[in-house]
This record gives sequence, structure tokens and C-alpha cells, in this order.
Amino acid sequence: MDAIVITHPHYDHIGGIPEFYRVQKKLDIRTTDLTGEIISSMFSFMKLSINKVGFFKPFEIFGVEFTLFPVDHPPLKESAGVILRYEDSKIVFTGDTSSKLSDEVIELIHSPDLLIADAIHPTLSFNKHMNANEAFELSKRIDAKETLFIHMSHLYPPHSVASKKYPLSYDGMRIAVENGKVIIGESVQKAVWDFGLERKRDSTF
Ligand SMILES: [Zn+2]
Ligand SMILES: [Zn+2]
Repeated sequence: MDAIVITHPHYDHIGGIPEFYRVQKKLDIRTTDLTGEIISSMFSFMKLSINKVGFFKPFEIFGVEFTLFPVDHPPLKESAGVILRYEDSKIVFTGDTSSKLSDEVIELIHSPDLLIADAIHPTLSFNKHMNANEAFELSKRIDAKETLFIHMSHLYPPHSVASKKYPLSYDGMRIAVENGKVIIGESVQKAVWDFGLERKRDSTF
């Protein structure tokens, strides 16, 4: 792995770090100040390389530009979403957030080729996550070309049923960029291989 970008220090987002550390000792972790401090103290028994990055300050990993932006995920004071830019394509990953995003953020994340949105429940409202309706509303508001839901709870119907109604992501789903075009899902496999051979680096996020 070239690097891991961490949006916030909740267990479902960082709990895998110690397990992954067994596989790869050198981990380049990119995250915000506060999240970096929490990870350092939680995992003080490991030698982690934590590189802090500020909001709105683009940085690059294997040729992909990443920009963190602040989202609303109470009670955390600091939680990030991520914009990925590669070959004129733009992917927005909300991380965990409510629908209360600032106007500055809405402007920054506008017009993505793909929005990957937190949608924890089909209908119920939560103060720290979006539900499916709110994720659809955000997609419309920022004029996203494609939308994928992540972070769904078990309160959705089974995948085979819910995926007919909602743009659900799933474990192992691959997203690639080829010639500036974002490719999602099954059809991505061949593109990833072709692209990987050509560029010698895998463009999968
Ligand atoms: Zn969270
Ligand atoms: Zn979470």
C-alpha cells in the first residue's frame, strides 16, 4: 500500500490499522491534526508514520491528487471528506457526515464524476450521518454524474433487494479511472488490468 488516508478516528475507520500493521510495517498515514493525535495515542505501541495534512490543502499519492475538506460528524470536532482528482476526473468521498455541509464545501465538491456518499439508513434521520434521501439530495445539489452509497447499516433490505432501489457499493467493488473516465464495478476489472500494465501502477483507489 502506498498510503492510507484516514477521515476520522472512529473505530470502524481505524480499527483495522493494527491488523494491517502485521502485514505491512511501513504505513504512510495521511490525516488531519486531531485525528493524527488520537491515532498516535491509541496505537502508541506501534511505530506509525503519521503525516498530518490540513483541510483544503491538496497533496499527491501515486499521481492522484487528494484534498481533505471538513464535514459534520458530531460529536467529533474534526472529520474529513476527500476529493480525489486524476486525469481531469473528480471523485468526492464524503466520509461520515450529516447533510450539514458548509457553502464553501458545497462549492468545492460541486460537479464530481462520482459522489461516494455516506447513507447509513434508508429513511431514518441521524444527526451524524446522512440517510438515503439526504445522500440523493446531496448528489442532486452538487450535480454529481454518478453516485454510490457507502456505510450502509444492516437496516437496509438485503443487498439483492436494496440495490434495485439504491446505488449501493459492495465489498470488493473497484473504481478506476481510464482516460479521464470513472469506471465503476464489474466492468472495471479489465480496465484496471490494462491500465495497470500500461502505467505499471494500479489506478484503483
Ligand atoms: Zn464515524
Ligand atoms: Zn463510520
